[in-house]
Amino acid sequence: MSLDDLYRQVLMDHYQHPRNRGALESASVSVGLHNPSCGDVLQLYLKIEGDRVQQASFTGQGCSISMSGASIMTETIRGQTLEQVHDLAEDFKRMVRGEADVPDLGELEALRGVRQFPMRIKCATLAFNALEKALQEHSKQGGDPQDG
Ligand code: ZN
Repeated sequence: MSLDDLYRQVLMDHYQHPRNRGALESASVSVGLHNPSCGDVLQLYLKIEGDRVQQASFTGQGCSISMSGASIMTETIRGQTLEQVHDLAEDFKRMVRGEADVPDLGELEALRGVRQFPMRIKCATLAFNALEKALQEHSKQGGDPQDG
C-alpha cells in the first residue's frame, strides 16, 4: 500500500466516522467559520481550563477534506496546552503550504497531499483557522491579556 493510499484511508475513516462531532454543552468558547470557495461550514467548540484544551468538538458540513480535517484536529488538540495548540496550527499551515522542516504531525499528515491542490488548502485549514479564532476569543474573554 502506498503512503497516499494510507492517507486516503485515514481521511475516509474520519469522514465516515467523525470523532468529536456534536455541540459541546460545556464549551467555554465556540466559533463558526465557513469556506465560501467550497461551501464548507464549521462550528468549533472548545472547553478550555487553565492553559489546557480539555475538550474539543465540531459541527458542520462540507467536503471530506474539511470534515475529516476537523475530526483529526479535535482528536489531536484534546489535552494539549494552548501553547502546543498554537504551535500545531502554525506547523499545520506550514505543512500544507509545502514548507520544509515541519515536524511529524501524526494523523494530520494525512492532509499533506492537499498542497498539490491549492483550492483544497482552504478546506484543510478551515478547522485550524477556526481554532486560532477560538483561541483569540478565549484570550479576549480574559484568559490571557496578551494581544492575539
Ligand atoms: Zn471543502
